[in-house]
Amino acid sequence: MSDYQVVPVKAFSDNYVWTIRNGKCAAVVDAGEAAPVLAYLTAEKLELVAILSTHHHNDHVGGNAELLRHFKVPVYGPRDERIDNVTHRLREGERFRLPHFDIEFEVIDCPAHTRTHIAFHGDGMLYCGDTMFAAGCGRLFEGTPQQMHEALTKFMRLPDTTRVYCGHEYTMANVRFAKAADPGNAALLELEARAKKLRDANQPTLPSNIAQEKATNPFVRCVEPGVIATASKHAGRALADAVSVLGALREWKNNS
Ligand SMILES: [Zn+2]
Repeated sequence: MSDYQVVPVKAFSDNYVWTIRNGKCAAVVDAGEAAPVLAYLTAEKLELVAILSTHHHNDHVGGNAELLRHFKVPVYGPRDERIDNVTHRLREGERFRLPHFDIEFEVIDCPAHTRTHIAFHGDGMLYCGDTMFAAGCGRLFEGTPQQMHEALTKFMRLPDTTRVYCGHEYTMANVRFAKAADPGNAALLELEARAKKLRDANQPTLPSNIAQEKATNPFVRCVEPGVIATASKHAGRALADAVSVLGALREWKNNS
């Protein structure tokens, strides 16, 4: 039963509901909307067997209640009462086996975008919600630059080949910002060319992987001299450490 595929089901304008499926069953990550998921399950004659939720934002959990009306399945999510119907409230280091799939996930706490955000890591995959995007990171609604730095640092300790399934299709916009923050980084130009081709063909630019983020993500690369220099110049003061650089980049991007 270890054969499976991961398919993006589109929701809203740029969300992906990552759908882990085999010939019979499907598990969904961050079901912000039920209708496109139900349409996909019906078209593919799949039975929903689990829901995974990374954080409480409605565009990530808004479809859970409706999906549960059709399928009585476990819901794996953070310890946060703002998310209803979670049957397995998880924290850092806890593990679970995805029903009907030979996949074991471990939970990584990554508070920053929200204070209880978690990520799911297993079988060479990372589902990181709105914490990290290709060449970018989530906004700090409930956390600090220090927390985001710690979250990204944990992700960067995973094997380079780990496939990274992010919550949104933000790659092209992120690359535009990354080119300003990390000028002269040739890996960004390669990523831009690859991503543009995919978007022109209406294809997702995801999953990314850890090696790609190490090479292209300015929020990961905030210890690189070039990124420190650019962030310092933009902030108008010398930024000495990775956390200050990340904070300055986040603010710059919020206002750009
Ligand atoms: Zn969010």
